[in-house]
Formats: sequence, C-alpha cells, structure tokens
Amino acid sequence: MSETIAIVGAGLTGSLLACFLARRGLPVTLYERRPDPRTGQAERGRSINLAISERGLDALRRIGLVDEVMADALPMKGRMIHPVEGPLDFQPYSATQDRAINSISRGTLNNALLDAAEKAPGVEVRFEHRLVELDSQAGLMGFETPAGTVHAQADVVLGADGAGSAVRGQLVAEGLVTEDVDFLDYGYKELAIPAVDGEFALDPGSLHIWPRGTSMMIALPNPDRSFTCTLFWPAGSFDALTSAAEIERYFGTHYPDLLPLAPDLVDDYLHNPVGVLGTVHTTPWQAHGRTVLIGDAAHAIVPFYGQGANCAFEDVVELDRCLSEAGGSWALTLRMFEKRRRVNTEAIAEMALANFVEMRDKVASPVFRLNKRIEHALERAFPGQYVSRYELVSFSTTPYAEVQRRVRRQHQVLGATIGLAGLAAVAGMVGRRR
Ligand SMILES: Cc1cc2nc3c(=O)[nH]c(=O)nc-3n(C[C@H](O)[C@H](O)[C@H](O)COP(=O)(O)OP(=O)(O)OC[C@H]3O[C@@H](n4cnc5c(N)ncnc54)[C@H](O)[C@@H]3O)c2cc1C
Repeated sequence: MSETIAIVGAGLTGSLLACFLARRGLPVTLYERRPDPRTGQAERGRSINLAISERGLDALRRIGLVDEVMADALPMKGRMIHPVEGPLDFQPYSATQDRAINSISRGTLNNALLDAAEKAPGVEVRFEHRLVELDSQAGLMGFETPAGTVHAQADVVLGADGAGSAVRGQLVAEGLVTEDVDFLDYGYKELAIPAVDGEFALDPGSLHIWPRGTSMMIALPNPDRSFTCTLFWPAGSFDALTSAAEIERYFGTHYPDLLPLAPDLVDDYLHNPVGVLGTVHTTPWQAHGRTVLIGDAAHAIVPFYGQGANCAFEDVVELDRCLSEAGGSWALTLRMFEKRRRVNTEAIAEMALANFVEMRDKVASPVFRLNKRIEHALERAFPGQYVSRYELVSFSTTPYAEVQRRVRRQHQVLGATIGLAGLAAVAGMVGRRR
C-alpha cells in the first residue's frame, strides 16, 4: 500500500487517525481549518472538557499515549447529585465503587494527539486549510487558506471534520450520501466554578449533576482545580434571562448551591454561546471506495453518555483493524468499516438520548436509587453474568449493539425471575391459608 491519504479535520478523530495510519507507513496529510491550536486560544463554544472512558483509553493505549493523557486526567468514580434542597447524594458508577470515567481537557487531549501525529514519520499537518470543494471520485480537494484557494489530490480522503462536516456536505451535494440531522430541542451553555483558595470548590472525584426534571446542569473538574459546568436547557429558554438580577434570582431558586461558587455567573451566562445538540444519521458513509466519513462527521450523537469521542476513537481502531484484514484494499476496508460500525454507532446514539432522561430526571428519584442499588447487588452476586448497561458502555469495549442486546436479555431474565418469585410467594400464601 502506498496510496496518499488526506484526512480532513485535525480534531480528536483526525489526529488520532493520522497516528494510526502513520504506524502503517502511509503518507498522510492532515488538513485543519483552524490555526494551530497549540499556539493560540481554544475555540469557544465547544465543551472544555470531556469524559474519556475505556473505549477512548483503549485507542490511546494502542498508540502508546495513554499514560501521557492520563497524567492530566481527573478520575470521577460516580455522580454527585445536587438537589434543590437537602444533602448531596453520591451514586457510584460501578458495583465495586472503584471504576472511574476521566475528566480530560479537550484542548490538552487534542494537542497531545497533534504532537504525536506530527512526530510520526510521513505525517504533514496543514493548518488554516478549510475544505470547500471536493470531487470525491477523483480525490480532488479545494481549501480556503489565508493565501487564497489551494487544491490538492489524494488517493483516499477521510472526512474527520466533525458534526457539521464539509466532506459530508460535498458528498450530499454530489448525490452520493443522504444525511438526516435530528436536532435536539435543547441547547447547552458553559459556566465556570473557579478554585477557592487553590482548592476544588466541589468534590473532584465526581461528575456533578443538578437534575431539574426537564433540564439539568452538570460539572466536570479541571486540572487547574476549577470546574466547567454545562447547562442543558430547552432551546430558547436561555433568552428568558436577560439581566443580572433575573439570572441571580433564577439560579438562587433553582441552583442555590451554585450561586456562591460561581462569581462570574452573570458574565458567563450573558456572553457564553449556546451550542446546539443533535444526532447525525448518514447513509452511506463512503463513496467510490476512496472517500469515507468517520467520527462525528458520520454519526455525531448527543453528549449524555459521554461517548461521542470514545465512539469516534473506537471508529479509528476498527478502521485500522479493517485495513489489516482487507489486505491493502481501501475499497474493501471502507465497506467493512461501515458495515461493522454502523450498527454500533446507531446503538450508542439511542442509548445517549435515553441517558438524557435518566440524568436530568430519574437520578433524583428514590426509585432510581433503589434500582441502582439492586443492580449493583446483582453485579456483586453474579459477577460477569449480570453487568449493568453503564458498566458495559463505559468500562468495557463490548460493541455497543451487543451491550443493548445483552442488557435486554438481562432484563428479560430478571423480569421472569421476579415474576416467578412473585408467583411462588402468592402460591405459598394461598397454601398457608388452606
Ligand atoms: C457539550 C458536549 C460535551 C461532550 N462531552 C463528551 C464526553 O464527555 N465524552 C465524549 O467521549 N464525547 C463528548 N462529546 C462529543 C465529542 O466532543 C465529539 O464526539 C468529538 O469531538 C468528535 O471528534 P471529531 O474529531 O470527530 O470532531 P470534532 O471534534 O468536531 O473535530 C473536527 C475537526 O475538523 C475541523 N474542521 C471542520 N470543518 C472543516 C473543514 N471544512 N476543513 C478542515 N477542517 C475542518 C474542525 O476545526 C475540528 O478540528 C461532547 C460533545 C459536546 C457538544
């Protein structure tokens, strides 16, 4: 194999992909519309930090980057629920209480991947190259750059340019792909909780959640001992608060413990952008055996399972595996890649949507807490046989579609067992009365 490879987008997926392909000795050019993020300010409006779990770590392990990335990570072993009134409630993620998802700075992770990609032999990174034209059959690309439009050609074009992918847009325009973007009727906005006297203002070992029924706020810790909070509110409702007094009154009523911890609340609220959320469905992901979409460009999901980047990293691992199995044929590789990944990305897209209801509403209910305790008790009683959905999604690399099937099976068995136990109890009572 000596094809020339173009990767469009040097975000998390594109940079990781460049590292994997470089290990195969392939010549890769990575095109990124932004200036080099290592020399400037981070883009506002994207999440500042991410929860990376086993799938993401598995990919990083394969390129020898996991220790470097984890050195800056903050493990979160459970959810800390903040009710409007009353004590905080810590809910561990795993039955053993020792498994954690990891809060990682998006910028630090992206920079580590870019450094690794740039160091790899055969990889060239071109910043300030925004893809604006694509002839997917010929592999011809046009980029807007500060010096004007430049053209390039590659044997294989990998579109890793995120949820609003220009590569996908070009494939749609060529009539080769159809896209369907299900926007969620919710937006998100980030707020900050700074360190207090150099210390974390909240427990740094938890992912904090303020469930409020139809809306919620979460907070993840940062290495500088601050927290980044993200409000997930119904679209349009952010506009209802326009003055400092209104903002303070609202947060004082609904998020009372946040108010004393967020001195820049009003400024953050008024000036930070509202991001959109949605699920991207694309069919197919590839064209002409030489152009493919990967990561968010193919299948962006809502962030409520903390799996978007983890899933995108898993894409990269699978593409690499397909390359090995396809004996050098990119056409075969891309078909295999789509066939294997689509069913799994559809599964996590569904689970991520369902988890929003769980996080914003159910986690606060006593029934949910009881269910979690029963679930963890079952995991301890039947190790390896009963495994919770959260455990399988976050702490294993079990394919997402298999997670869904397995959890369904477990619920059926559990339902039948409870049903039988109930029948036995009723029969026992009837027997005693006779
Ligand atoms: C609020 C929020 C919270 C999240 N939290 C988590 C989490 O906790 N855990 C998790 O796993 N995931 C999380 N995600 C999802 C995660 O951010 C994405 O899945 C991940 O960033 C996808 O990586 P990507 O490289 O495919 O896309 P992106 O990160 O969007 O990167 C795309 C890159 O392509 C570049 N680009 C775009 N257009 C062009 C063009 N025309 N030409 C050249 N370059 C271009 C962009 O500048 C960017 O660098 C979250 C998402 C959101 C919105």
